[in-house]
Amino acid sequence: MWNGGLKPLRLVVKIGTSSLCGDDGLLIDERVKNLASQMAWARRHHHELIVVSSGAVGAGIGRSGRQPTGVVEKQALAAIGQAYLMQAYQRHLPEVVLAQILLTRQDLEDPRHRANSANTLQRLLEWGALPIVNENDTVAHEEIRIGDNDTLAARVAGLIKADLLILLSDVDGLYTDDPRKIPTAEHIGMVEWVSQDLLNHHSAATGRWGTGGIRTKLLAARITQEYGIPTVLADSSTSEVLPHLIQGDAVRATYFLSQPDTPIFGIKANKDSGVGIISGD
Ligand code: GLU
Repeated sequence: MWNGGLKPLRLVVKIGTSSLCGDDGLLIDERVKNLASQMAWARRHHHELIVVSSGAVGAGIGRSGRQPTGVVEKQALAAIGQAYLMQAYQRHLPEVVLAQILLTRQDLEDPRHRANSANTLQRLLEWGALPIVNENDTVAHEEIRIGDNDTLAARVAGLIKADLLILLSDVDGLYTDDPRKIPTAEHIGMVEWVSQDLLNHHSAATGRWGTGGIRTKLLAARITQEYGIPTVLADSSTSEVLPHLIQGDAVRATYFLSQPDTPIFGIKANKDSGVGIISGD
């Protein structure tokens, strides 16, 4: 259970492509550096951290100057970008032992693969390493793809029984409608239960190089709700967003409760105020 940073937490932090790469696909070093220093903060404060990082395809485009014209090209770009991505994290986390984990759907579904993946992640955490997870895009063809890293992060959170899933994106939470299209759309501070109605209401609009959009974030939050794990969706460009979220400070974000009516430190006031809450159906 998330208690506003009063005890060390096991956190899964998902970082979207749009949080790392510019419109041209190039990794923006300053963004990697900024997020890396927040990860280092979390580790210094004894939180266990697993990062699910997108950006391999984007970084591959930026690095090679080639375009993802087909499935094979996208997979090849992921292979180029994945190495580049890890180098970027390592450059900004020189003291930290990084571990690259590339998973396919089978690794999360087949009981033996699941157990192996969980055991490896557990051992890496015990060793104080920082696992950086992505889908194994290079080998995962359509039928065996997880497809998006929001879902991957939610499943990883379930696999290693995380206390909290943090989805960092280029939006500061869920709105009643797409705020890029409907300026009067209102921000929702808390979702008690990701209902089918809520899922139906939000389409699958995606960023330029990433996969997902708000719908996959809702699906991810629903998966973690079923595991009994809360999720927060926040903007990666909010200053010191990770320390604030971990400490339970008031940050503009959307909080998805682990179960209906579960009080979560730091957001109860918001809930009591009755503002921006979506209840279960
Ligand atoms: N695995 C993809 C990548 O690293 C990202 C998938 C996603 O954006 O959800 O580029």
